[in-house]
Amino acid sequence: MEPAGAPPQGCAPAREAEEPPGSPALPAEEPQGGQPAEPPPGEAALPAVTGRERCRRGAGTQGPGGRAARGRGRRAPGRRGGEEGGRAARRPRVTVDSSKAKTSLEALKISLRQLRWREFPFGRRLPCDIYWHGVSFHDNDIFSGQVNKFPGMTEMVRKITLSRAVRTMQDLFPLEYNFYPRSWILPEEFPLFVDEVRMMKDSDPSWKPTFIVKPDGGCQGDGIYLIKDPSDIRLTGSIQSRPAVVQEYICKPLLVDKLKFDIRLYVLLKSLEPLEIYIAKDGLSRFCTEPYQEPTLKNLHQVFMHLTNYSLNIHSGNFIHSDNVNTGSKRTFSSILCRLSSRGADVKKLWSDIISLVIKTIIALTPELKVYYQSDIPAGKPGPTCFQILGFDILLMKNLKPMLLEVNANPSMRIEHEQELSPGVFENVPSPVDEEVKVAVIRDTLRLVDPQKKKRKDVQCQTLEHVSEAKEEALEAGAGDGGECEGSRGPEAGLPSLCLKQVFPKYAKQFNYLRLVDRVAALFIRFLGVKGTTKLGPTGFRTFIRNCKLSNSNFSMASVDILYIDITRRWNSMGIDHKESGMCLQAFVEAFFCLAQKKYKSLPLHEQVASLIDFCEYHLAALDEKRLVCGRGVMERRSAGAPGQTDGLHLTPAAHTPLLSRTAAAGKFADYRNHRY
Ligand code: ADP
Repeated sequence: MEPAGAPPQGCAPAREAEEPPGSPALPAEEPQGGQPAEPPPGEAALPAVTGRERCRRGAGTQGPGGRAARGRGRRAPGRRGGEEGGRAARRPRVTVDSSKAKTSLEALKISLRQLRWREFPFGRRLPCDIYWHGVSFHDNDIFSGQVNKFPGMTEMVRKITLSRAVRTMQDLFPLEYNFYPRSWILPEEFPLFVDEVRMMKDSDPSWKPTFIVKPDGGCQGDGIYLIKDPSDIRLTGSIQSRPAVVQEYICKPLLVDKLKFDIRLYVLLKSLEPLEIYIAKDGLSRFCTEPYQEPTLKNLHQVFMHLTNYSLNIHSGNFIHSDNVNTGSKRTFSSILCRLSSRGADVKKLWSDIISLVIKTIIALTPELKVYYQSDIPAGKPGPTCFQILGFDILLMKNLKPMLLEVNANPSMRIEHEQELSPGVFENVPSPVDEEVKVAVIRDTLRLVDPQKKKRKDVQCQTLEHVSEAKEEALEAGAGDGGECEGSRGPEAGLPSLCLKQVFPKYAKQFNYLRLVDRVAALFIRFLGVKGTTKLGPTGFRTFIRNCKLSNSNFSMASVDILYIDITRRWNSMGIDHKESGMCLQAFVEAFFCLAQKKYKSLPLHEQVASLIDFCEYHLAALDEKRLVCGRGVMERRSAGAPGQTDGLHLTPAAHTPLLSRTAAAGKFADYRNHRY
């Protein structure tokens, strides 16, 4: 393993806040809305600083001093000075609005200084290239650039929603999705939970399970407890009042120094369509603070033994803050891997299992995320593009099998922790382990989404046509850097190699067969009709059935309506989202599975579903082709001066196919014809 965290690049040059000549951004550095020129939010509350940190901060902070710092920067270009300063000045710097970064602000600031990008801590009147949000996509209205959150992600990774999404995949591919503990959703699945546990106990009397109850929407171990039996009063007493997930407890975790620990891995979802996933080479390992024992009635309540949450264990007298990444209650994951490797463990296999877990989990989340995305950022309307850093919490079993515990939409990016100096007196102090891992993740996420990288690549393409001219220009514009391999004189010169490694589409071939629900979601979105909704009305459902030619003498349109009403009513009664009426994606998926089972009786479920998707896509592609031909005929008639009787016919398939492009649809039609018949 290469170390993921990059040692800081020393003091950032004082020209950090320098204004590139002619930049239109100048006035925007003023605080908005007549705010006094005071420190940006969060700056005043900065933790105590190390020498190294003080050096960085002093050199680069805009803050109160956006202007002052800028002035300083001009007079003293800093270490890199003249040659490179001149080059950078000609290149507009990437602008980042950090006004809503919240607790990730400090790590973001360090990253921006390392990249020499421009931070706008108070926001900016003009649009920024990137908006860094601490919490969710919906922090404000943004119409361009990139935001570091996807709409709907917070909802998608709630315990119940995640369990549901994984469950759908487990129904289709039980072996591929066995990395998530068996789970039941409460209150609706309580009777199922009781029945299944009874059945399993009957069939194997030696099975002595433990279950962990996790309230939906909880975090940091809040409200979590262990039980040995579904009849436990703590559970039965709170079922109706607090929706939760109850999960099989993993009793035999891998221990290090006799302690249970989990892994926090950082994953970048760079794009939803096409799917692009990166995984950070290093993460954090968070340790319990009491030696582990398998759960018994006596130790069930000992949170320091069973729950690895940092927020809980920090209150234990045994918690060890360490300024070393290999020891203490929070360590780097790479230090654990080194240790495992020295014990002869197959670390390569472990990594490949983790990569597979991450890709499969994201494949489970993408269908619904696409529904949220098209609702918040409808195709054709101005809006930002999104990317997001996710925190994957993974537990290693004794046999080194990684198990997914949960996904965090807002993983903590704090790089300092609270320390009690004397009773009741706390101070924030830097945490070297957090800083090493998190700054690298943020910085390299920014490098991957760098809007100017694309521009530089375009410049490079042009240079192929004008080689001699371009050599000089490329040097001047820093265009020598392509992809991840930065030229030594490029804008990324001096930065460490990326800590984020692409895993998708790199391994797409191995995982694409799992993306069935994605294709079902594409059908769903096509029939949503009015943009901006997430639920399908009865007319949309009927049109889907009709266009895909799914009704026949055995399945009348009256049965279609009954199917729609039954499933929609049940999903809506689960109290998931009452804001809109209609059929949500999960309900549509259930209806789709029903139809697939009806139509292709003898096949395994995933083959039934795949066959029905092929069938639907075939008929829709045929329909699109027909519309295209009609559309062409109409256009020809129009251009030939035929009367304009076609207005309002909506013949262009593009209007009906937000995700399936016209050519893709036609291609599918041809594929189906060539391969199926
Ligand atoms: P939270 O969001 O509240 O942190 P988690 O799902 O991460 O909830 O659970 C909290 C902790 O409980 C985990 O960090 C882990 O130590 C432990 N845990 C959670 N689920 C399991 C499980 N199925 N088996 C064993 N331990 C678990």
